[in-house]
Amino acid sequence: MDCLFCKIIDGDIPCDKVYEDDKVLAFNDINPVAPYHILVVPKKHYDSIIDISDKEIEIVAHIHSVINKIAIDKGFSDAGFRIINNCGSDGGQEVKHLHYHILAGKKLPNYEA
Ligand code: 5GP
Repeated sequence: MDCLFCKIIDGDIPCDKVYEDDKVLAFNDINPVAPYHILVVPKKHYDSIIDISDKEIEIVAHIHSVINKIAIDKGFSDAGFRIINNCGSDGGQEVKHLHYHILAGKKLPNYEA
């Protein structure tokens, strides 16, 4: 499968790793829009959140647990942060491998719907 994030997970394309376990890889976004802009990606390929079945939904809880760990480790848990999941073309998803953005390190603007 020609998937950019699968290639990063497999080590074929380098990344600036923030966190890794057996289910998840987190790395810095190549084009950050905030002082912290980290992508949290399941190692198993799902095109988007809509492909997660009820049977596999625990991966989402795990991703959120990893996000909490990263926020505490990086020191922005108290100040706050934003989690974004873009889903599909109307949602602005460019890379078709499920991922969550963590944005932190500045007061983030409100966003338009
Ligand atoms: P999406 O728009 O799909 O929600 O977000 C994709 C994100 O992946 C973008 O923020 C983009 O900057 C990031 N990105 C695209 N290519 C690469 C890459 O090769 N390495 C890293 N670290 N991030 C990437």
